[in-house]
Amino acid sequence: MKFWRKPLDHDKYKTPKGEIRIIDDRCKGCGFCIEFCPNEVLKESERFNVKGYHPPEPNDADKCIGCRLCELICPDFAIYVIVTEDEQKNSDESTTNANKEPAEVEDHA
Ligand code: SF4
Ligand code: SF4
Repeated sequence: MKFWRKPLDHDKYKTPKGEIRIIDDRCKGCGFCIEFCPNEVLKESERFNVKGYHPPEPNDADKCIGCRLCELICPDFAIYVIVTEDEQKNSDESTTNANKEPAEVEDHA
């Protein structure tokens, strides 16, 4: 990952990795996820979904840092990301649900 300024504690942290999951048929082709991904990981695919839109697909999946912005920004819940290598070297395991599938995350509401 490229920084405009190297963080002072950069050596203490590992860059997370994300695995992108796209639910094609929910997508309405708005392109928000493509436009706002900070690492330009996504692009419009050639294929059509059932609604006749082009869902996104990874352009360079290895560049995904699991920030989950695409997941947050998608108006149709058509994309989500599993963080596979999150782990900041000093992280507190109890504070993260990031490695779990959405269905596994406990609802404390
Ligand atoms: S999790 Fe972040 S880096 Fe990965 S595809 Fe989504 S917006 Fe891009
Ligand atoms: S933000 Fe959601 S609906 Fe819009 S293109 Fe991406 S996956 Fe499709």
